[in-house]
Amino acid sequence: MIRLSEAHLDAIRTHGAATFPNECCGVLLGDVEGDHKTVREVRALANVFEPSAEFETSVLPAGAEPGEMAEVGQERRYFVSPQEMFALMQEERRTKRKILGFYHSHPNHPARPSAYDREWASPWYTYIIVSVMDGRPADLTAWQLDEDRKAFSAETWEILQSNEVDIEARRREER
Ligand SMILES: [Zn+2]
Repeated sequence: MIRLSEAHLDAIRTHGAATFPNECCGVLLGDVEGDHKTVREVRALANVFEPSAEFETSVLPAGAEPGEMAEVGQERRYFVSPQEMFALMQEERRTKRKILGFYHSHPNHPARPSAYDREWASPWYTYIIVSVMDGRPADLTAWQLDEDRKAFSAETWEILQSNEVDIEARRREER
């Protein structure tokens, strides 16, 4: 279960609209208590995906023609640079905030995880997808990869009032 505020969701939607027709991506940072994740910050990351025929062949769904996928770019793919991931993990170690998951947009596609998304996902993290249709944010969904890595399940979420976010943050700092 993940808890986040309407402002966090708006930040994801706004980012998705801003990078349209390309995919946006970003990280969800916050606290973990048992199986409850609470988002404290939604942070935009750079999508550094570069089209690669070689790469597409390696992630190709069974039966697809390699040629079809050779020119797929940031309108269908996102990639966070290893340097940025490394910096986030260092930050995680330095601060109390944990990496809770990631978000990205699906320009002119439904907010459902793709085979590519499954390839890159890890269990436990929350993956938020916002569909952006003709430049306008539409459906927003949250997912978790099953332990056997075969499929995603919808993750339940709860909207926190923004003052609740602040009060909880203060309570934690006082501890
Ligand atoms: Zn995706």
